[in-house]
Amino acid sequence: MAIPIQHLGNFRWKGVDLLNYKEEDGTFKSITRQLLLKGDQSFPIEMRYFEIGPGGHSTLERHDHTHFVMVIRGKGRALVGDTIIDLNEFDVFSIGSQTWHQLHASGDQPLGFLCLVANERDRPHRPTVEELEMLRRNPEIASFIRS
Ligand code: MN
Repeated sequence: MAIPIQHLGNFRWKGVDLLNYKEEDGTFKSITRQLLLKGDQSFPIEMRYFEIGPGGHSTLERHDHTHFVMVIRGKGRALVGDTIIDLNEFDVFSIGSQTWHQLHASGDQPLGFLCLVANERDRPHRPTVEELEMLRRNPEIASFIRS
């Protein structure tokens, strides 16, 4: 890979494939993924760029591994734990271990963000019926989540 990985404009990078967020399972809407950097065993980290199209959202999930996120395009909102946060360009946040999370794009622009994760990580868990019920006890969360 050339150094630097040249930005081609419009949040595409030279030689970087535009991938599906994950296998289509009906839990998300309108997301692409680009794997920008993948470290070796001395720095076992991936830097990815995700983009959620207008009206789209990520999967509601939690897992052992942590995310570090920086918004670099557009606006959105996210459920992180029991809080719904507003997201604006260059905001930074982390999503801790076993913390429920879901990101939504807001308005008519895509929401684009960098997301750092460990190379080796556990698979995400979707909420059970009981866990969904618990989450929905908070009316703000109930009206926010898409699942
Ligand atoms: Mn996640």
